[in-house]
Amino acid sequence: YQVPNWSGGWFRVSDKGAVEVTPSPGLHAPLRSIVDEIVERGESLPVILRFPQVIAGRVKHLNESFQSAIQEYGYTGHYQGVFPIKVNQRRVVVESVAAAGFDYAHGLEAGSKAELALCLAQKMHPDALLCCNGFKDDGFIKLALWGRTLGKNVVITIEKYSELDRILKQAKALGVRPAMGVRFKLHARGSGQWEESGGDQAKFGLNAYELLRVVERLREEDMLDTLVMLHTHIGSQITDIRRVKVAVREATQTYAGLIAAGAQLKYLNVGGGLGVDYDGSKTTFYASMNYTVKEYAADIVYTVQEVCKARSVPEPVIVSESGRALTAHHAVLIMPVVDVTGPTRDLEDLAPADEGSHQIVKDMEEILANITSRNYRESYNDAVGDKQTLHNLFDLGYVTLPDRARGEALFNAILRRVAKLIQNEKYVPDELEDLQKVLADKFICNFSLFQSLPDNWAIQALFPIVPLDRLNEKPTRQATIVDITCDSDGKIEKFIDLRDVKATLPLHEPGDRPYYLGAFLMGAYQDVLGSAHNLFGKVSEAHVTVRPGGRYAIDLFVRGQKARRMIESMGYEEPMLRDAIEDQADAAIKAKTLTADQENELLEDYGEELLGYTYLEYEES
Ligand code: PLP
Repeated sequence: YQVPNWSGGWFRVSDKGAVEVTPSPGLHAPLRSIVDEIVERGESLPVILRFPQVIAGRVKHLNESFQSAIQEYGYTGHYQGVFPIKVNQRRVVVESVAAAGFDYAHGLEAGSKAELALCLAQKMHPDALLCCNGFKDDGFIKLALWGRTLGKNVVITIEKYSELDRILKQAKALGVRPAMGVRFKLHARGSGQWEESGGDQAKFGLNAYELLRVVERLREEDMLDTLVMLHTHIGSQITDIRRVKVAVREATQTYAGLIAAGAQLKYLNVGGGLGVDYDGSKTTFYASMNYTVKEYAADIVYTVQEVCKARSVPEPVIVSESGRALTAHHAVLIMPVVDVTGPTRDLEDLAPADEGSHQIVKDMEEILANITSRNYRESYNDAVGDKQTLHNLFDLGYVTLPDRARGEALFNAILRRVAKLIQNEKYVPDELEDLQKVLADKFICNFSLFQSLPDNWAIQALFPIVPLDRLNEKPTRQATIVDITCDSDGKIEKFIDLRDVKATLPLHEPGDRPYYLGAFLMGAYQDVLGSAHNLFGKVSEAHVTVRPGGRYAIDLFVRGQKARRMIESMGYEEPMLRDAIEDQADAAIKAKTLTADQENELLEDYGEELLGYTYLEYEES
């Protein structure tokens, strides 16, 4: 499961084979115990475990990485991060970042009016930035300007040229002097899945000509001092550190060019993009990154300084807008395995072929008996042909249902035998490449992919998935994961691997004890992009603090959305639903399909479900 490779030290596997969260040296707690306690309290799963201490640790690590690079290079400016709340607006997340970042004057970034309203209410260090990105209307701009009167260091980012006029107009009307940033379309691009966020065709930002027009316009207005920040962003999850360096060089040259044109910029904002190593491979693969947070900080500080020295301009305050890297690690989705289905494996339970069996079944019996490492390819192809014939003959009425059952079980047994023979082969014939996936068991887990891991569905993002315990036991099954939505896309068939992406995940035979899987690194974007497909709502969550001595405390348990909330969000009202059921029940009593006692019970059950969790609620979980 590669835990040491992707966990960044925030999780580990104990000697007892259990996954533990390790928010700082000396602090550790097994996830299984936390989940068991939640279940003992009578709460239902799935649940998201959130560890605010991990967020605090990530904020500290990022800030200290920049501070030590600044010290090492003798950089004369300082670093001030901002957290883009779109990555996760949950209260516990924003407040944890704000609290851990207070002493570093780590600020916030809002990309909409609603996000700004939320950010303005936060307690922040007076120097901390509150950057307003995204397209803006007058209301957004006014709110941002009011923020300055509240003593907040609000900077309005100009994302397109026409916003400048709007800002100036509103600022004059309110009598508030604005502070503005300007987003520049770098020609440099990121790497990985969000490459398109940068470059000339990017959605946001001004080109070089428009940048100079902003400076000219502000000079005419005698407001050059209000342009304080140059802002750039080349996309999230940058996998290759070279792309960061190239972009920062271009951004710093642009900064120097603006200074030369008369601007008095204070901040250089390099945007987001600091990656998360989801697969632990430390490569430029899209789910990974070939650098550390320390290297990221050091390369940015070094590059900015180098250009500033060469251009003889002051070294600016460096701002970055990391979101993913601060929040991904803090949350783990716990999914109970509720059932396992898969290709028939119980050959022994079926009657062996006899005199009365169809010839095709006898043929398959013979293939199985004679597979060797020399003829497996031929055996496989024969079996595929025989299975096709078996089905054709069944359709025509020549093969009985028991023969079909035996034939299908034989086919799966042949595939399993072949898979075993090729498992250590270097060269696998093309037609056998998907064998593992075809043979895999489906572990049905109590969760919705669309609500909890939407990026796996939408953009094939990979998340490490690990059983919470039994890690000192060799897994005996190869599995894919399916969720409980009625959507065949609700499945996970891609798993992390150091060299490749795997089609199956090794898992244990679930026993009498509930078997829980954790989906890790899901604290960035997933919580907020999730959707209510099939009306599966927000998942319950537990906020957990780890204490010394392997202890922990569940500080807060927030129940997931109730069915009623989900139904009401679609425009229905609860009394209307209850009335409709009552009317039908009354009619059923008249029609004598229901008794008065049964009606009471029915209405009680109905009401209970309206107030219940939208996920499966089995006794054992
Ligand atoms: N800043 C801007 C302008 C963004 O568009 C984004 C997201 O793409 C971020 C910051 C956050 O990026 P990340 O989560 O990669 O740190």
